[in-house]
Amino acid sequence: MNQTVEKAWSVLEELTDPEIPVITLRELGILRDIREHADGIEVVITPTYSGCPAMGQIEDDVNAALKAAGITGKVTTQLSPAWTTDWITEPAKEKLRAYGIAPPHTTRQTEQVVHITRRQQASRAVVCPHCGSQNTTVISQFGSTSCKALYKCLDCREPFDYFKPY
Ligand SMILES: [Zn+2]
Repeated sequence: MNQTVEKAWSVLEELTDPEIPVITLRELGILRDIREHADGIEVVITPTYSGCPAMGQIEDDVNAALKAAGITGKVTTQLSPAWTTDWITEPAKEKLRAYGIAPPHTTRQTEQVVHITRRQQASRAVVCPHCGSQNTTVISQFGSTSCKALYKCLDCREPFDYFKPY
C-alpha cells in the first residue's frame, strides 16, 4: 500500500460518528475506501439513512483530518451499493450496546436468505442494552434521530435508542 494511503487510513480510522462518538466511521461502514490518484487521494464514503443529517458533518470531518495530517485529497460520496446496517461490524455492535443503544437486528439480505416471515420479524425482541431484558416496548419509531427508534425497558424502566435495521 502506498504510504500516503496508509497514512490516510490511520488518520481517518480515528474519526467517529458525529452522533455516536464511540463508533468509528470505518466500523459503521461509512468509510468505504481510500484510493490514490496522481493529484491526491480520494476518500470514498457512503451515507447512511437519507434521514440522517450527519453526512455533511462527516465530509467536513474527513477533510479537516486530511488537512491536519497534511494529506491532499477529496471526498467522494458513493451511493451504490446502498449502505445497510449489515456493514456495522460485530465489535461496533457491542460498543453500541455498551453506549446504551440497542444494535440493529440482522438485515434484509440475511432475512431474504433464511426467509424469515414478517410475523417472526415482529416477534424478535429488541434487547435492553442496560439490563439485557427482552421485555421492551417501542415508544416512538423515531428516537434521537430518524435512524433510531425510541424504546423503553419494562424491567429496568430505562428508555433507550434502538438502531433500526436498514
Ligand atoms: Zn432494562
